[in-house]
Parts: sequence; C-alpha cells; structure tokens
Amino acid sequence: MKTEQLYRELGIDSDVLLFGQEIEQSLKKRFAVIDETVEYNQLKVLQAMQKNKVSDVHFAATSGYGYNDLGRETLERVYADTFHTQAALVRPQITCGTHALGVALSANLRPGDELLSPVGKPYDTLEEVIGIRPSMGSLAEYGVTYRQVDLEEDGSFAYDKIKEAVNERTKVITIQRSKGYQTRPTLSVDRIRELIAFVKKIKPEVICMVDNCYGEFVERIEPSDVGADMVVGSLIKNPGGGLAPVGGYIAGTEACIEQAAYRLSTPGLGKEVGATLGVMQSFFQGFFQAPAVVGSALKSAVFAANIYERLGFDVLPDGSESRHDIIQAVTFHKPEGVIAFCRGIQAAAPVDSFVVPEPWAMPGYDSDVIMAAGAFVQGSSIELSADGPIKPPYSVYFQGGLTWPHGKFGILKSLQKMKEAGLVTL
Ligand SMILES: *Cc1c(COP(=O)(O)O)cnc(C)c1O
Repeated sequence: MKTEQLYRELGIDSDVLLFGQEIEQSLKKRFAVIDETVEYNQLKVLQAMQKNKVSDVHFAATSGYGYNDLGRETLERVYADTFHTQAALVRPQITCGTHALGVALSANLRPGDELLSPVGKPYDTLEEVIGIRPSMGSLAEYGVTYRQVDLEEDGSFAYDKIKEAVNERTKVITIQRSKGYQTRPTLSVDRIRELIAFVKKIKPEVICMVDNCYGEFVERIEPSDVGADMVVGSLIKNPGGGLAPVGGYIAGTEACIEQAAYRLSTPGLGKEVGATLGVMQSFFQGFFQAPAVVGSALKSAVFAANIYERLGFDVLPDGSESRHDIIQAVTFHKPEGVIAFCRGIQAAAPVDSFVVPEPWAMPGYDSDVIMAAGAFVQGSSIELSADGPIKPPYSVYFQGGLTWPHGKFGILKSLQKMKEAGLVTL
C-alpha cells in the first residue's frame, strides 16, 4: 500500500497532503539543523549515563522510606552531569512543573527576602505560588516580597530598571525561559547568560533560578551552563521524553538542591527519603529519548509555523526564526479557527481520537478554553497537544509530538479540519 493511501484512509485528502509535502520539502535545511542538535544532545545524555554506570539494578522499585534508592541517586547524578550542575533532585514526588518551581523558590527564600522577576510576569500558576494573586500558603503569606521588571516594548531587558530593583533583600531572581502563553519572544540561552551576568555583577550572591519548562534540549547548552544556580522543569514535558508518567526536577548547586530537598520532604530528611515505586526505568529511558523527542516536537512546530504562515495567518515564532522552546502560536482572528485546529489535533491522537473537544469554562481562565489532548500521560504536553482560549485574538498554542511523523499528521489533520470548515482554501 502507498503512504498516500493510508493518509486518505485516515481522512487526509490529496490537496492537504500535497500542500504539506511542499512545505516539508522547503524545510530540509531547518530539519537538518534540528537533527544536528538532537545528535549532540543524545551524546551528552549518553555520556552522562555511561559515566554513572547506569545498570538494570537501577530500575528496581523501592518502597516505604526509600532509603538507599540506588536508581534514584544514580538518575540524579545523570541529570546533574547532563545539566553540568553539582546536584539534582529528580522525583516522582514532585507532582508537576509548578510544584518543582514552588519547591525551588520556597526552599531558598526566607521571611524578609525578596524575589525578583526581571523578565516580566511569570507563568500563570506561579502567581499564586508567589502571592501576586492571593493564595493560601503563598510566599507572600510567609513574608517574602516580590518585585517585577517588565521587558522593554521591543523585548529587550530593562537593564536600568533591573539595577534599581536589586536591593539588599533581593535573594532569588526568577527567569522564565519560555514565553509560555505570552506574546514576548522566548529567551535564548545566550540572552539568559547576559541577564545573569548583569545581575551577578550587581549582586554576586543572588541566586538565579531559571524556569526551564519547554526549553530542555532545544539548544546544545542549558541555562545551567551559563551561570544559573538552579534550572527547574516538569517530566511530563521535554526531559521525560514522553515516558515519565509523573515528576519534576531541580538541578543546581549543592547548596540550592540541599535546601530544595529539605523543603520537598522535610527538614532533617532531605534527599535520603522518597521511594520510587517502579518509575525509574521510565525516568531513565525517557531522559535517554528526550533529545530525539524534543527534535520531533521542534520539527512539528516549525512545520506548523510554515503551513499557517503560508496561508496568511499570524504565527509566533514565525516560519524562519530560530527556536528556543517547543511552543507554536497561531492566530486565527476567529473562534472557528481555534476550534477546527484543536479538533484536528484531537482527531490525530493515538488515544481518544474519537472525542470531539468543545470550548468549556475552566477554573483559572477568564474565557472558555478548548483543549486537544489525546495523550498516554494525562496532560502531557510533550505529546501532541493544543489549546486556545476562546477570546480575541483567537490564538491557538500548539506543542509536542513524540515522533515527527505523528506531529506532521496532526498538523495535516488540523489543516484538513480548517479546510472542511471553509476557513482556508489551498
Ligand atoms: C508548563 C509550565 C509551567 C508549569 O508546569 P505544570 O507542570 O503545568 O505545573 C511553568 N512554567 C512554564 C514556562 C511552563 O511552560
């Protein structure tokens, strides 16, 4: 059977397929560059695994207190060696990215200290962690104050204002690498280097934490290679490689990680406890696969950008600019576009492809939201997924793709739905 026929059986007509193939042809050079990054990062992870003599004894399940969990200790060495940090905390007890960030922050701040974000508003869920929006148990309730310096209009750092904002109480600065669901550009690791160098010149002892969510393995270096004291992320995004069923990580200096471990478990116990219950193999294997999976997600994002840019929609990043995370935004300027796009992504999924997503009121959002997620791991956004708030300018945020052929199929399916709804003509 020909590939085209399988596409047809899966609901992709020949106009859509041809359009996609033409775009794919034009991306050969871009994809080759992504493949080179994958190759480099694959070797980096492999080297860390070999150096630490990863062996099948490390995949054994532990229970109870989890004392002397060899797998956990070795995995944390593998993360530390990959991120070039002194230590790491990589645990299934870290429930998500927000939790990892919350632990990293609250562990390293004390009453009277101040937290500074020199890159504008942090990710939505951190507003309650910090207390920007009042919440039970926020840093604000514990007497930690917060200051924020927004980026300049053109996206550059407001160096003068940052200098003014750093004071004798500034203890931690938080830098979000990915734009998340904002419209600012994502920060490259080189820009993070400049920002950290600037802040450390003013106050050398300040702790620089980078929210690394969606950024891992997109470049050859990580923020921890350029002066960050902590990098923090979720295992159901990039570094879990699609296999980790839960978890988060914090990699950084011995001092910061020790603090984080005491906060995550309890003072006195720290890193020594935390049974891994059989998830270690998926953590190791997922990390091993993560560079290639991130490469697939990047190709899918670049493909989507070029497809929708060619059709005249606003895309961020645009079709040709360099990438620093795996998120792709497409703006349709009407709700039908967001809905058709998400329905296409859902219909392309390996799990729950028969479900038709509908816009819905979700807690924490000020408009209806539509979400497409046919994932093996609930809410996993390294798997092909998309979501969009039903409000102007009607943008959809797309990310993930465990394999490039699946990412490609998902985007073609979205295009098919757009075509069928009369929203594009090819
Ligand atoms: C996803 C994300 C978070 C929060 O992670 P959750 O796992 O959803 O709690 C924080 N910051 C950024 C930039 C993210 O992309």
